[in-house]
Amino acid sequence: MPELPEVEVTRRGLISHVVGRRVLHTLDHGRALRHPYPEWWELKGRRILDVQRRAKYLLICLDGGKRLVCHLGMTGHFRCLASGEDAAPHEQVCMHLDDARSLRYCDVRRFGYMALISEFELADHPWFSHLGPEPLSEEFTASWLIRCSWRRRCPIKHLVMDARVVVGVGNIYASEALFRSGIHPARRAGDVAAGDLIRLHAALREVLEEATRAGGSTIRDFMSSDGRPGYFSHAFQVYGREGEACLRCGEAIQRIVLHGRSTFFCASCQG
Ligand SMILES: [Zn+2]
Repeated sequence: MPELPEVEVTRRGLISHVVGRRVLHTLDHGRALRHPYPEWWELKGRRILDVQRRAKYLLICLDGGKRLVCHLGMTGHFRCLASGEDAAPHEQVCMHLDDARSLRYCDVRRFGYMALISEFELADHPWFSHLGPEPLSEEFTASWLIRCSWRRRCPIKHLVMDARVVVGVGNIYASEALFRSGIHPARRAGDVAAGDLIRLHAALREVLEEATRAGGSTIRDFMSSDGRPGYFSHAFQVYGREGEACLRCGEAIQRIVLHGRSTFFCASCQG
């Protein structure tokens, strides 16, 4: 599943391919995504001004004030191909641009979705209205994390994956950040000391920044928008390493299931 670094890498890739281009026409291939497609005629003739990101949503900003909001679901990714090229494998949407190229949205499992939303409606839209701060922004501070964990009885891993607390921290990076800050993922959030939360705050930013720099991970079939696979997965310290030696102490990495999600940790390094 694409996590925040993959979405951010996609955004950066898209910017270089589509900003400044005008949309000639857009079509879908008739296979439903998670929500109904937007009215494609509304995009016709619009110029793409920017590509932004909020949490794991990509916002393709069009002149006239509309945003084509895209969520990549489990397996979604964008490719930029010559307009004459045949549909890419598992292509669902094709947006023809005025430079003889087209932006293709491909999604094997079709859990992704898109909508056309006015820029003024975004903040109150049900997909966005509950979202907390971006993890790499100045609004996400250690004191905010400390305040959010106050008296909370849920596991700390659950807290950092709560979009109201901080957006875009998925299963992989939650496990990684908790390992780096030496906190057991199942510990009750309200019991984690302020000093540990300060380290966790720094670790969350660190793992997300490193992953974005590395070009996103190669989990499943994520490809960056110009077709190069990312490679951050080589740098995971606990995620997917059940039974392997902890890189810090040599003990075997363990796996538990928390809230239905695989959670990897080292029992001797994370108390
Ligand atoms: Zn260890």
